[in-house]
Amino acid sequence: MLIDSHINIHGEDYAEDLDAVLDRARAAGVSPMIAICCRLSDFAAVSAIAERHDDLYCTIGAHPHHAKDRPDITPEALIEIAQHPKVIAFGETGLDLYYNHSPLEEQLSSLKAHIEAARRMDYPLILHCRDADEIMADLLEEEMGKGAFRFLLHCYTGGPELARRAAQLGGYFSASGIITFKKADDVREVFRTIVPDDRVIVETDCPYLAPMPYRGRRNEPSYLPHVAEKLAEVKGWRIEETHQKTTEACLRLFNTIKV
Ligand SMILES: [Zn+2]
Repeated sequence: MLIDSHINIHGEDYAEDLDAVLDRARAAGVSPMIAICCRLSDFAAVSAIAERHDDLYCTIGAHPHHAKDRPDITPEALIEIAQHPKVIAFGETGLDLYYNHSPLEEQLSSLKAHIEAARRMDYPLILHCRDADEIMADLLEEEMGKGAFRFLLHCYTGGPELARRAAQLGGYFSASGIITFKKADDVREVFRTIVPDDRVIVETDCPYLAPMPYRGRRNEPSYLPHVAEKLAEVKGWRIEETHQKTTEACLRLFNTIKV
């Protein structure tokens, strides 16, 4: 059994065949799955899919790209939406200074509201970080000082320093298809040497980032075993051991999932 901790399935890409995609995932041993909300306005669509499937859960959050839609979002508003029975985490939120689709100030205010919501509900926070390692590490340390919260750095591609500082704060890390890419030696090195063995999980981030040998195609959760296989190689684990460790870590982090 493998848990896909990050799927983006409410969009156009699966409009024609979502049920078949989810069935292929289950046939490949991938279940449950966590459907990510990246825009507050998408929550209705994401949660409706989660409602239709026993093994799907969902999140509530605003991706840094979309922070500008609702920069004034409050922890209270997020917590209210999180009362939905399928919601198990806040996010995806974070910082993206590569694309800069929202001004940094608005990314920060949105991220801080998500942190406070996660802290108050003791729900995990799913973080995206691109080209913002130092500011993210500084913020996580500062916010952790105000009161503990649990977090995941999803699809980790950051450097060793953010990994070290996040690991120190109890953070979790997820590996995506990127770890199978030829040029991702630096990412593999961080997973090998810094990411704690009991705090690593896996995701597809589908429809993006299909792992080898499907790179460039539409990604789907049934491809997750390819990510796990590479993680096993990187960590020097057996396949079954990798499935067991990542599943245990995932259920510890997303502790309201019922299996
Ligand atoms: Zn992301």
